[in-house]
Amino acid sequence: MKQASPTPRKIREDHFTELADLIPTMIWKVDNDGSATYVNKTWVDFTGMSFENSLGFGWGNAVHPEDREQEFKIFMTAFEKRAPFQSKFRLRRRDGQYRWVLSQGNVLYNPKFVGYIGSLTDITEQELAQQATKILMQKKDEFMSIASHELKTPITSMKASLQILDRLTVQEDQLESIHGFIVKANKQVNKLITLVEDLLDVTKIHAGKMQFNHTVFNVEEVLTDCVDQIKSQANSHQIIINDTCEVFIYADRHRIEQVIINFLSNAIKYSPETDRVLVNLKKDTQSVKISIQDFGIGIPSDKISYIFNRFFRVEESSQKFSGLGLGLYISSEIVKRHGGDIGVESKEGEGAIFWFTLPLSQEPLVMQSS
Ligand code: ADP
Repeated sequence: MKQASPTPRKIREDHFTELADLIPTMIWKVDNDGSATYVNKTWVDFTGMSFENSLGFGWGNAVHPEDREQEFKIFMTAFEKRAPFQSKFRLRRRDGQYRWVLSQGNVLYNPKFVGYIGSLTDITEQELAQQATKILMQKKDEFMSIASHELKTPITSMKASLQILDRLTVQEDQLESIHGFIVKANKQVNKLITLVEDLLDVTKIHAGKMQFNHTVFNVEEVLTDCVDQIKSQANSHQIIINDTCEVFIYADRHRIEQVIINFLSNAIKYSPETDRVLVNLKKDTQSVKISIQDFGIGIPSDKISYIFNRFFRVEESSQKFSGLGLGLYISSEIVKRHGGDIGVESKEGEGAIFWFTLPLSQEPLVMQSS
């Protein structure tokens, strides 16, 4: 009886193919036409393709359709030059998931050119980590460019004011205009201080080193102070305190001021076409809630969930308004660290209501009554 012809797998099964089957890397071999004549068991196990279906050019079916052309080009260019090659592409695993693999091929001579032998290694984890690092580096560069631009504007303006001041000081009768330039320079210095403090706060939050100095104080008083402070800096808007009440809490007064000032400055900055900002302070049995409403540009609904993220700025408006995208991130950290909640309600083009709550702990009441 005639014996059944052995499969190609059987023909090549020798000591080396046995070894090749055991190593965790996928191994392949092509002949001098570029057609696959061998894949190891690791390939079969990984791709779920049979040995036979992988031969010839069948292996190409496991390559991601978007990567096929590029991979074929790399292979053909090396093949024509009889040069070793290295490439990266996505390969379909037997569970249907595409994995990044590093493909390496070396030329085989015996003694004439007989093809290539190569390997495929799953590098998905490294690849994803690399991609994440790349995005992070891009974000960092983007941030550095915004930060330097933001720092440069007040410095340039401050320098101009100081130069004029320098010239004016030689003429004694110019005292009034000198005062104007001092005020201007001071404003820019304050801007710079805020920017640098914001940058420092972010590094502190990151390092878990943001310090809080708790005392008992009246929130209403702090709110009024903040409103007065903002009013003295910007007279473009009416800031109206609607609802208010006396309420004592135990918290870091300076940090809570920082949150309120950030909300108020944003309310003014992002409503250049309107002139009203409404402020509310309410309390219930558990907490106190401060909300600040403007009638400005508002926030697109698909951006709201990112608004408290570090460096996040609404792209559509970021060119028009200066800022680093740090204020809300810092505010949310401060509020969360006080055990409160922070949020925003907004409709694009109709304005925004930014709010935060702080818990009323027992401690201030005890301290207040003593
Ligand atoms: P900055 O104002 O410096 O960019 P913030 O962290 O304070 O940083 O704000 C983040 C982003 O949220 C802003 O860039 C802006 O797009 C949006 N935003 C904040 N407040 C308002 C507001 N009152 N109205 C509309 N958009 C706002």
